[in-house]
Amino acid sequence: MAKMQFKAESKRLLEMMINSIYTHREVFLRELISNASDAIDKIYYKALTDDALSFDKDSYFIKVIPDKENRTLKIIDTGIGMSKEELETNLGTIAKSGSLAFKKETELKDGFDIIGQFGVGFYAAFMVADVVTVTSKALGSEEAYKWESTGAEGYTIEPVEKDSIGTEITLTIKENTEDENYDEFLEEYRLKSIIKKYSDFIRYPIKMDVTGRRPKEGSDNEFEEYVEEQVINSMVPIWKKNKSELTDEDYANFYAEKRYGFDKPLKHIHISVDGTIRYNAILYIPEKTPFDFYSKEFEKGLELYSNGVLIMEKCADLLPDHFSFVKGMVDSEDLSLNISREMLQHDRQLKLISKNINKKIKSELQSLLNNEREKYEEFYKSFGRQLKYGVYSEFGANKEVLQDLIMFYSSKEKKLVTLDEYVSRMPEDQKFIYYASGESIERIDKLPQAEFVSEKGYEILYFTEDIDEFAIKMLMNYKEKEFKSISSGDLGIEGEENKSESESEEKEYKEIFDYMKGILTDKVKDVRVSKRLKSHPVCLATEGDISIEMEKILAAMPDNQNIKADKVLEINKNHEVFQSLKDAFANDKEKLELYTKLLYNQALLIEGLPIQDPVEFTNDICKVMV
Ligand code: ADP
Repeated sequence: MAKMQFKAESKRLLEMMINSIYTHREVFLRELISNASDAIDKIYYKALTDDALSFDKDSYFIKVIPDKENRTLKIIDTGIGMSKEELETNLGTIAKSGSLAFKKETELKDGFDIIGQFGVGFYAAFMVADVVTVTSKALGSEEAYKWESTGAEGYTIEPVEKDSIGTEITLTIKENTEDENYDEFLEEYRLKSIIKKYSDFIRYPIKMDVTGRRPKEGSDNEFEEYVEEQVINSMVPIWKKNKSELTDEDYANFYAEKRYGFDKPLKHIHISVDGTIRYNAILYIPEKTPFDFYSKEFEKGLELYSNGVLIMEKCADLLPDHFSFVKGMVDSEDLSLNISREMLQHDRQLKLISKNINKKIKSELQSLLNNEREKYEEFYKSFGRQLKYGVYSEFGANKEVLQDLIMFYSSKEKKLVTLDEYVSRMPEDQKFIYYASGESIERIDKLPQAEFVSEKGYEILYFTEDIDEFAIKMLMNYKEKEFKSISSGDLGIEGEENKSESESEEKEYKEIFDYMKGILTDKVKDVRVSKRLKSHPVCLATEGDISIEMEKILAAMPDNQNIKADKVLEINKNHEVFQSLKDAFANDKEKLELYTKLLYNQALLIEGLPIQDPVEFTNDICKVMV
């Protein structure tokens, strides 16, 4: 029979995964059992809601069968099964659409981190098996099929006889090597402990035939072996357990078992509410950003159960966008099993639960920030952007909830600080919260505009993400302090008007600057003496609502409307360059034009803005050099 090839990417991923992703090989069993449990969830729900299907609770189970002689391990489930097409698409390709595009982009450079985020659970079987055989019969189908693969080479599919609906996976366990012992995956006691460790809370019985020894009847010193089918897992879903009975490890295992993420959760939130509305929830704040988190493909949502039965895999209505990173599940007795997606949106109970959950998430994040700062910063690195986005979106409807959770890098502290921290240590004479925008901390550090504010002893918040300035414009102020860019026309700092200039001096500047403005007509709104520069000769300031960083961001948007900041070229009159400008103005207007253009282009470079004509700029510099 012809061998079907895995899709090319799958092949590479498979090899990488087998060798690297899981440090503990034993988790292959967790992955297969989770799949089995999901498959039973699907048929269980169908049977409960579809009268045409008969419903017998005892017929839902998972069975694990080791066979030392034949070196095989079977995992059998009575779930919904897979058709031929499903075997091909589900097991023949690892990478699915969204992840595929992403993978090309990164060329798998950081492969190991992202690899775990694809649907690779099933493939974990190849960590312990040379051959994997999947026999399955789908609900509603007369035929059954056998899928078989020896790993990266590809797979075969053929029709086969199978009586009952469900899936049977047979692993041909690898031979031991010098470094690795695979025999253990055929040992009853070992399998039992792996199941206990990772799959204890699976809702369906995980059965295994266990060999015991007992005294032989009628004999004092002789023993006989007997085999007995045991249920290995406790089956009580974790969310129905008492918090006091559960350890951090239990929560982490549930997170992994559910494939909420392949990282370790940073924090879990276990909620049990028994009031006008009753529900249990286990929520997680992940540690790492999922690879597709900031893309269109990402779907937010929590698993929704109605009294233990899964009714929806991703209920988006439970999470607002600004908390879309939260993973987990909600189970409520008060929800109807037959609830449809449309009905859900209007469900009063669900709205209450959602409101409740969001309050809880907010307060848990706040306490993480207050009590476990390092962890919070880690969280913030992964998801801070989403919080800031939340401040900005929906016209600022959620800014009150979020303003205390956002952080920015501080010029003084050299680390992330909250707005509250900033405001609480503001000197009395400081009227504004100052910020500077740029593409990186290093770049902002060098901005000439910062000199005056810093020298005043004021702290500056660094805005390095595109969303920052937009979020702050939406916030407008924090604790009655307004935000002010260090590049804005008026800094609002007393003593700005240092030493009143003599009238004749002022007149002199004005003439020069008007002349320069004439040279730069369509480029800047004004040319003037800078009040913020100390050692640098030149910088750009802005007037009005659009800053230079915003101009850059808007320019990069697909529906670029060519919106520009109102720029002002500021000259440091204490810099030697100013003397040269004065001389040129008096003696050589051509030279003044050259200098003006050079200074303007330099100011653009400092801001990270493109120079309109780089060739002319280089020629101009050469003119000065010759
Ligand atoms: P994931 O479970 O993360 O989607 P897997 O590679 O583990 O990724 O499985 C791929 C898909 O194969 C599953 O989503 C499911 O549709 C199907 N599948 C796997 N195991 C079973 C099973 N025992 N019964 C029915 N379907 C299964």
